[in-house]
Amino acid sequence: MDMKTLIDKLEATRDLTDGEFLALLTCTGEDMAYLAEKARDLRDRIYGKEVYLRGLIEFSNYCKNDCLYCGIRRSNGNADRYRLTAEEILSCADQGYELGFRTFVLQSGEDLWFSDDAMAGLIRALKDRHPDCAVTLSIGEKDRPAYQKYFDAGADRYLLRHETADRAHYEKLHPADLSWDHRMDCLQSLRDIGYQVGCGMMVGSPFQTPECLLADLRFLQAFQPEMVGIGPFIPHKDTPFKDSPPGTLTDTLRLLSIIRLLLPEVLLPATTALGTIHPTGREQGIRAGANVVMPNLSPRGVRGKYLLYDNKICTGDEAAECVNCMKARMESAGCRVVVSRGDHPGYRKGDA
Ligand code: SAH
Repeated sequence: MDMKTLIDKLEATRDLTDGEFLALLTCTGEDMAYLAEKARDLRDRIYGKEVYLRGLIEFSNYCKNDCLYCGIRRSNGNADRYRLTAEEILSCADQGYELGFRTFVLQSGEDLWFSDDAMAGLIRALKDRHPDCAVTLSIGEKDRPAYQKYFDAGADRYLLRHETADRAHYEKLHPADLSWDHRMDCLQSLRDIGYQVGCGMMVGSPFQTPECLLADLRFLQAFQPEMVGIGPFIPHKDTPFKDSPPGTLTDTLRLLSIIRLLLPEVLLPATTALGTIHPTGREQGIRAGANVVMPNLSPRGVRGKYLLYDNKICTGDEAAECVNCMKARMESAGCRVVVSRGDHPGYRKGDA
């Protein structure tokens, strides 16, 4: 089968054989342009030209974990640690609300200073102030009662990248005290509780093979997440992977398009990491089928400290500048950002 026939088959059936997926993961040039066009058209049929904005608040870079790829890993003594107060977090959200954000993503390292009750209180305060907004959490692995507590406090969505669907690969990226099974259990708990769930992986992470990516695609098909966060791996100078090559723009764009065709309604961000490896990476991500962007709302004073990888963009800008810059970028990609919660079309939780 030639590449275009494969792409048509994926669009029509949302499935391919293992061999066909592996072949598609190598497409380039005109074939990749055709893949992007199909993905973009499908995105347009479901979402039109509307791109959803998520206001990212990176509220703590303390972390108890030691993931080998991550710049805020516990053993990085050079990381300049900070945590925002509840008041600072709420004031970021207030500012974001004025700028048109209707989803706030609270992201952090796994910082035990924030107890489960403290998180629940923060979520409740955020929902009280902005009842028309969605709250997304991205705070790592917790136990099921904690996830339930946050949900009961009003959290709507949870991002927990699975990082890799290949257990042996997972073990090469993480220290022995983190387990692939636990991460997968967390995703299942989040799903059972009723969150809109996001998983995802880095593209081009150390030791990643085409078979790892095939396993990722099979996992996405089985799990049917509402959101998928993918971006290129980018080395951080103070980690064991400092000399590993970054993931590429082409590989990331190709995967974005494949994921759009696999999960037509999925909420798919063009990530900051994609914007970091190429000046127009996020625009190209949108053209490849993505439909979400996540500008940073963190206070200027701490932005330069939430560094998962080197050369992160937008660390010196004010939130308002980021929004205006993003609007212009999305227009150049043929889209427009909208003021909306931007739920997954299949989402029914009270339809708030
Ligand atoms: N502690 C939270 C949030 C992690 S940061 C959690 O465990 O979910 C969000 C994502 O950034 C991670 O899931 C990882 O996929 C990505 N990331 C971490 N280090 C990175 C690097 N060096 N390059 C690119 N992405 C990275």
